[in-house]
Amino acid sequence: MYIADTHSDTLFSLGVSRATFAETDITPARLREGGVTLQTLALWSGPKGPGGDFEAIAEAEYAAAAHFSQAGIRQVDDPSEAKDGENCFMLSLEGCEVFQKGLYAVGEWRERGIRMGALVWNNVNTLGTPAKINATDGLTDYGIQVAREMQRLGIAVDVSHLNEAGFWDLFSKGHKPPMASHSCCRTLCDHFRNLTDDQIRAMIQYGGFIGVNFYPAFLSSDKKADAVTIAQHIDHICQLGGVDVVGFGSDFDGIEIKPEDVVHPGQMNNLLDALRTYGYNEDALRKVAGQNLVDYYARIR
Ligand SMILES: [Zn+2]
Repeated sequence: MYIADTHSDTLFSLGVSRATFAETDITPARLREGGVTLQTLALWSGPKGPGGDFEAIAEAEYAAAAHFSQAGIRQVDDPSEAKDGENCFMLSLEGCEVFQKGLYAVGEWRERGIRMGALVWNNVNTLGTPAKINATDGLTDYGIQVAREMQRLGIAVDVSHLNEAGFWDLFSKGHKPPMASHSCCRTLCDHFRNLTDDQIRAMIQYGGFIGVNFYPAFLSSDKKADAVTIAQHIDHICQLGGVDVVGFGSDFDGIEIKPEDVVHPGQMNNLLDALRTYGYNEDALRKVAGQNLVDYYARIR
């Protein structure tokens, strides 16, 4: 089965924190063990980190992707290039600070393999405002221009961390459906990082994509979670009509606590089994596990 994960912070651990695969959640061996076909690896760029130099941080993370290549995990430029039975990775941005210097930077990073970009992380930048700060300040004019340039070049615009006003700006002013690489459902867990039912319905209506986050603090108000809790969020999106737009967005290496029985990608089977016991047949499972992401990229091409 083609299994995709749309968010991880492993390149920050490897490239900036100087961790090794002995310390990270995601490793080449665990991607093989869990049968993960496509692992998205994010270049996180925010004001934190050595000197607050987001360009240098992004470059260090970009260079760290070589640890995966050298271990036989192949970089792909589109989810459809990864085949069931392989273990591949694709690059994304978490926080598009590197696009602040000009629209030309979007094309430069596209050339380097970036295929997904969250406009903001938890800090305000010149593109927009995160949900952590407020719900009401929409995207800036420049943020809208960046989103449109990303969409023109086939880079998925990722709304995870973005606030509600920015989210709706993308639906009224963008020209392709956005995605959420690592977000859960606010109806099940009332956290500002989670999507409201109205947001989920818009994703379904316009053909977006939602990768459900594995972070217990976003899954459950008591911060306790297991594979069944993740399945509950996936099922909530399906109940709203989203069986064709939902998938997995683990956030591994970015979360300090993990679901009891899904602590690294080698345990993806526990999540598939939880969905099976929830009543999902193999056809629905195949969609949620990865086909929905492949289909989303076909829609934004
Ligand atoms: Zn994040």
